[in-house]
Amino acid sequence: MEDIYLDSNATTAVLPEARAAALAAMAEVFGNPSSVHGSGLKARALMEQVRASARRVLGAPRGQLCFTSGATESIQTAVVSALSELRRRRDAGDARPLQLLYGATEHKAVPEALKHWNALLGLHLPLRSIPVDHQGRHDLAWLRQQAPQAGLVCTMAANNETGVVSDLDGIGAALADSPALWLVDSVQALGKLPLKLAEHRIDYAPFSGHKLYAPKGIGMLYVREGAPFTPLMIGGGQESALRAGTENMAGIAALGAVLQALENGHPFQHHAALVAHRERLALALSEAFPGLVFNAPTELCLPTTLNFAVPGLSAKLLLDLFDAAGLRVSGGSACSAAKAQPSYVLEAMGLPAWQAAGAVRLSFGPADNADLIERACTRIRACGSALRASGLADDGPATKTPGLLTRFGVDGACCYLVADAASRRCVVIDPLPELNERITQWLRRHGHTVVAVLTTTPALDVGASPRWPQDTDHLQVGSHRITRLALSGEPANACAYLLHEADQTPFAFVGDAVVPGVPSEALSRLAQAAGPRTWLLPRHDDGRFVWTLDQPPTAVPAAVGLTADQLAQRLPATTAPLLVDVREPYEQVLGGAPELGLAVAPQTKAVPLSDMLNALPIWRALAADTPVLFYCRSGNRSTQAARFLRQLGHANAWSLEGGLALWPQPRATAVTSP
Ligand code: PLP
Repeated sequence: MEDIYLDSNATTAVLPEARAAALAAMAEVFGNPSSVHGSGLKARALMEQVRASARRVLGAPRGQLCFTSGATESIQTAVVSALSELRRRRDAGDARPLQLLYGATEHKAVPEALKHWNALLGLHLPLRSIPVDHQGRHDLAWLRQQAPQAGLVCTMAANNETGVVSDLDGIGAALADSPALWLVDSVQALGKLPLKLAEHRIDYAPFSGHKLYAPKGIGMLYVREGAPFTPLMIGGGQESALRAGTENMAGIAALGAVLQALENGHPFQHHAALVAHRERLALALSEAFPGLVFNAPTELCLPTTLNFAVPGLSAKLLLDLFDAAGLRVSGGSACSAAKAQPSYVLEAMGLPAWQAAGAVRLSFGPADNADLIERACTRIRACGSALRASGLADDGPATKTPGLLTRFGVDGACCYLVADAASRRCVVIDPLPELNERITQWLRRHGHTVVAVLTTTPALDVGASPRWPQDTDHLQVGSHRITRLALSGEPANACAYLLHEADQTPFAFVGDAVVPGVPSEALSRLAQAAGPRTWLLPRHDDGRFVWTLDQPPTAVPAAVGLTADQLAQRLPATTAPLLVDVREPYEQVLGGAPELGLAVAPQTKAVPLSDMLNALPIWRALAADTPVLFYCRSGNRSTQAARFLRQLGHANAWSLEGGLALWPQPRATAVTSP
């Protein structure tokens, strides 16, 4: 499946012309631009040609324009320059109280640099964020009021998460009578908005090459004529002593090719074409996900960025879904994508918590053509269909009978749903607020009634109802009975819930109070009430999916992953492995199975991680020598599955290292459900 890359605000592929220019520079123009011989002169000529092109593109015929390693370095240089000037003014007797202002939605590089250098240079000026309105625009009235006391004001040209374009004219007017220096982070504007730097009183403007088809490691800083400057790097006096260090000629040459392409208008698309691309994508998204909301008004945004959220669907679910369809988008901003945290940008805009936490960003590049956008729209629609097919996109009745146990996980915490299909009654154990929407939808679709919402750790009780009914020592969930067992020790008043089936106790939900193998009163109480082979389900997933008293989790080796190279060496040539897709059904529908390249064809199964416990009969029936290979999108869920199976005693369980993302190109076959 072809990757469709829609994360251009994070980074872009290198333009073929830029790649060629970098290679040519390395092969032919390898001289040091500071050398005075022919080779050096050639390099210098190339570098100055690129600088001249940059001046034209940026509308900066005057002022300084130096090459740096990227925007972060350019931002540091600008901040050091501005703060050094403020310190100089203070040392010269200027006693005006000053503050440092930055937009509430700035990229972290800006406030972090301000904080760092403000302390390091001993200035200790107050740092304040400029509020933004519901649309992500700076509060100009607030800025006007604060401007007379401002020493440095930082306002980005366009936001990396939402694409909201700042009103630079309005900000400039608010700063008209201010002594403040003005930094405009222009990273996301280059190539997408006309920049006429010299027409504004902007003092500093940083740029990053890799956000616009140049390689990583090359950037620029514009400094207005007469604006204070203090170099960040000192040494051989390169870049007119603005930035020491031998220049990155390959990067400069590549950036030059991009700038030239911008000047020629090819392959870059006109603004109107980009707006049309965005409209098609927005329509496809709205059709695929009814109820979808855009998190910023598109008419105020870069034409290449869409930031949205879908009620009832988490950002993680949407990202998994898009990734399964080969669409590379991001949640919030790329820098914070690894953490499941709400976007501070959307929070600053005052958006509701579900929108800030569930935000997905789709950003294409200004050189992307209509064909790519059309293919992206087709995939987006396929994502909507996959969700509907798996029953997650609507409230229509479920087509598949739910298993007895569903396990949900959020950041290592586990919540369980015990559902009796015959009576359509269920119990939620250890609820997590993040799952409310998902569980409510699940209940609607399966037509189940919640008998009780139970918690093993009273201190973490979120107060959900219905609670354990008074004056009963057990709850009946269809043919299953649940009893409560008080466990003393830590956490205080902790309890376990035992699930009984006829005269067996196959499962117990034990919260955080018992630690396998560590003698405690809680453990002995559990041992009296549960059988030695009762599956014990913890509240936190610390690598123990499930364990039993007679077989506390053995130390599973940390490494259960196999790379493509290791696969053939580790697996016997004659035994067919069992290949298990542990992604959710909506991802499985979109296809994609790894190509194993083994002599024997694998058997295939689809068992989502959340359904792993219901598949216990499958795992128990496995022959000891059957290799089981789990896979998912990134290797995370499949690692948990492989560890789970090993804890059950099946030593031959593996996870495909790095998941489908790192595995050789998958073939498009669907796998069968258990
Ligand atoms: N400013 C903005 C608006 C950005 O989007 C980024 C990168 O995401 C940066 C600064 C930092 O750029 P770099 O990581 O290339 O230094």
